[in-house]
Amino acid sequence: MGKRKKRRSAMKKNRQGEWVINPDATTLLRDFCDALWSKAVIADYAGKCAICGRTENLNAHHLINRHHTGTRHMLENGFCLCGYCHTMCPNYSPHMNEEGWKSWLEENFPHVAKWEHMAWNTGLHKFDSVKTVFYYCDILNHLKQYFSDDEFAAVVGKRFSEYLEENQ
Ligand SMILES: [Zn+2]
Repeated sequence: MGKRKKRRSAMKKNRQGEWVINPDATTLLRDFCDALWSKAVIADYAGKCAICGRTENLNAHHLINRHHTGTRHMLENGFCLCGYCHTMCPNYSPHMNEEGWKSWLEENFPHVAKWEHMAWNTGLHKFDSVKTVFYYCDILNHLKQYFSDDEFAAVVGKRFSEYLEENQ
C-alpha cells in the first residue's frame, strides 16, 4: 500500500453542515484556472501546434511568463505549441531560441506579437492583488464561458461547479 495522499478540496462543510468554499484552497483553485486556461488556449488554436500543425502532446505556452499574474490567465497570453516546438526546436522554440521565436511570431502571428508588446508596455502583466479563493473564483467564472457544463465540472468537480453557478 502506498501513502495516502490527502486530496485537497475546494469545498468543505461549515458548522451548520452547509457546503462552503474552503478558504485554504487557493492553490487548488489556481490549478483549476491553469488547467482550464490551457484547455481553452489549445481549443482556440483548433487543437494544433501553431508552428508545425501537430495535434498531439500540445502545450499552452505563456507569451508573458506565468509568474506575472496579471496576464497568467488571459487567453490572449496563450499560444498553442506541441512539446517539441515549445521546448526543443532549435530554431523556433521560445525556450531554446528566444530570438528565432520572436521573429517567427512577428512574421506569422503579427497580431499576437503586437498584443505581447502592448501588454508589456501598458504593464498589464504587473497586476497584483491578494490571491484569495474569491480572486480565483472570478477567473473561473470568466473561463467557464469557454466550456460546456460537463467539461467544466470535469476539471473543478461537480459540487464546486454548482457552487460557482449559484454564487457568481
Ligand atoms: Zn510543433
